[in-house]
Amino acid sequence: MKYALVTGGSRGIGRAVCIALAEEGYSVIINYVSNKDAAQEVKDIIESKGQSAELLAFNVADAQAVEEALNSWQEQHPEDYISVLVNNAGIRMDNVLVFMQDNQWNDVINTTLGGFYNVTKYLVKYMMTKRYGRIINMASLSGLKGLPGQTNYSAAKAALIGATKALAQEVAPRKVTVNAIAPGFIASDMTKDLDEKALKSMIPVGRFGKPEEVAAVVTFLASEKASYITGEVISVNGGLYT
Ligand code: NAP
Repeated sequence: MKYALVTGGSRGIGRAVCIALAEEGYSVIINYVSNKDAAQEVKDIIESKGQSAELLAFNVADAQAVEEALNSWQEQHPEDYISVLVNNAGIRMDNVLVFMQDNQWNDVINTTLGGFYNVTKYLVKYMMTKRYGRIINMASLSGLKGLPGQTNYSAAKAALIGATKALAQEVAPRKVTVNAIAPGFIASDMTKDLDEKALKSMIPVGRFGKPEEVAAVVTFLASEKASYITGEVISVNGGLYT
């Protein structure tokens, strides 16, 4: 059995990624932080199609919680390892810098960048030992371009892109690839407060993207076909170039 862990797999893009990876034959580990019902729904959808999934709750920003959860998974699966990691968990807490609260800065950085560090550091050693792995980091257009009102989020996503490029070079000899995806506006809970009507006029394709359209790129990067792509950032943004 091949295992894939998707952080923030309970909703939005992560949910679509879980379902798509299960369709590719992975046993999917659905991580979430608080929304157990939504995570359970994803598990039920996957199992109703005869595929395999399990839940693993932890806060990616909490190093100790990550270690405990992954230790317990590893103890229950002593012969197995997680060969695909999708670092997808993320939050938005927008504010202009002049009014930014410390918690808005810290929570966004700790979830995106701290989450990447905590989960990847634990799992990459198994991938390196087994000489195969795929790490896919959910960055953002905001991390490429910088968006006003999002200095915290843009900084976190830009840092994630830097980490992607550096780690890709460290682990390439062990056949572990590390890539990032930079979605533009994707319809999910994260963007439901945005004015789609006003924003879509800026998007050449003329609409927000669907989580499934991001998940399709994840499954490709997770596949063996993508063996020669590493350290890359792939935009999925309907032509909304930076
Ligand atoms: P979403 O609908 O708000 O879902 C967020 C997911 O992350 C949920 O599953 C949530 O779990 C989980 N999560 C949040 N904080 C967590 C934590 N500390 N530990 C573990 N899980 C946590 O977001 P989305 O739109 O799907 O976005 C997914 C990723 O894509 C994020 O990294 C986001 O920054 C990025 N992105 C999104 C867009 C967009 O337009 N939507 C664009 C660019 C990039 P619970 O259900 O338990 O709360």
